[in-house]
Amino acid sequence: MTAPLDPTHPSVPGGSRNIQAIRGMHDLLPERVGTWQRLEDTARQVLERYGYAEIRTPLVELTELFKRSIGEVTDIVEKEMYSFADRNGDSLSLRPEGTASCVRAVIENGLLNQSQRLWYRGPMFRHERPQRGRYRQFHQIGVEVFGLAGPDIDLEVILLTARLWRALGLDGLRLEINSLGDAAERAAYREELVCYLDRYRDRLDADSQRRLTTNPLRVLDSKSPETQAIVAAAPSLMDRLETQTRDHFAAICAGLDAAAVPYCVNPRLVRGLDYYNRTVFEWITDDLGAQGTVCAGGRYDGLVAQLGGRDTAAVGFAMGIERLVELMELTGEGAAPQLDAYFVAVGEWAQRQAPVLAERLRDAAPGVRLMTHCGGGSFKSQFKRADKSGARYALVIGDSELERGVIGVKALREEAEQQELPLAATAAFLSASQQST
Ligand code: ATP
Ligand code: MG
Repeated sequence: MTAPLDPTHPSVPGGSRNIQAIRGMHDLLPERVGTWQRLEDTARQVLERYGYAEIRTPLVELTELFKRSIGEVTDIVEKEMYSFADRNGDSLSLRPEGTASCVRAVIENGLLNQSQRLWYRGPMFRHERPQRGRYRQFHQIGVEVFGLAGPDIDLEVILLTARLWRALGLDGLRLEINSLGDAAERAAYREELVCYLDRYRDRLDADSQRRLTTNPLRVLDSKSPETQAIVAAAPSLMDRLETQTRDHFAAICAGLDAAAVPYCVNPRLVRGLDYYNRTVFEWITDDLGAQGTVCAGGRYDGLVAQLGGRDTAAVGFAMGIERLVELMELTGEGAAPQLDAYFVAVGEWAQRQAPVLAERLRDAAPGVRLMTHCGGGSFKSQFKRADKSGARYALVIGDSELERGVIGVKALREEAEQQELPLAATAAFLSASQQST
């Protein structure tokens, strides 16, 4: 074989073509990481306040797991999974969502003897068309509760999400809920729905025509306006629910009313995944364009048994971190990574002393974020760096400060006299100023 002559070809030594990230998979750069951390930290605090425990599962599972849980005729399994053959021939897939892995893990590790309230976070992978709010690697924080069948826990997971939005300062989210009934109710309804939709088959969009035979309930959430118009007059599953299911749903609604969490019952709300029964809900915003659902979940009582575990009630949700972060940035709830102080040292002596003094400051002021200048340079160039770092204060030492045993403290973001303080007082000052923000 002859080597390619194109010098930009990646196989040519020294070829200059840059290797890029995979389409739909993004680097999370430092300027945005503060908002991610704020969301992740707040979510974790809220989840801990409700007694939820974190679980971490592998990113890769047997493809069979997702086929059996999510369902063969869903978008995810039909066309969105990253599947590949392992070296021994097993078909593996990058996880497209967290529920299936979580269910596998609780069965495999024998956690179902008592109820479990679990949460997870991490990347998910779906080969979708990349667009705003829709990526091929995206991130979720999710909750799965096992072994609790009553409406009280459905209510709890919804209230928990409402508390998270409040903690994040997101007040434009709308809650939609619905009941998909139990298996028998849904089967009966499904027949009725197919019968109705069949009359308009020719006017349905192509996807919906296909779903009419594979997954007719999903026609209900078609985005096509003409299909939507047909669906608007379709029989409603809500009207077909038996007493028990209706009571379950009514109890959740009553709980939301009592907690003063506004919601809207949307009888067309069905979820993309096969495994839901009874309660489904979504939190939606109008501020993110077409991909407005930031959190979605519901009850899935049949899944544990379907995957070989003992019959176990279950309820959960997953939220999309990218969408929430974008919303936080839009509404001014983003957070910049922050620095309290930047340590400037001018002259040889000071440069030798700076690391030692900075360590002592870090010992004395544990919460304070202090960056030390590295690489030397003039006072002017170091001070420019201090300003660019975003720190609130520059700490300055040179021969004269060292001789007098003080540190120069200069405010960078507000008008204030420069002060000179001994080390302990500098530490105390930085700690106090941090608490005042
Ligand atoms: P959608 O209707 O937006 O496709 P979905 O029903 O496929 O959502 P779920 O599987 O329920 O979504 O995932 C829960 C949440 O994860 C979504 O509400 C969304 O916020 C987020 N999410 C799902 N897919 C993606 C993606 N490809 N990119 C970014 N976020 C996503
Ligand atoms: Mg989807």
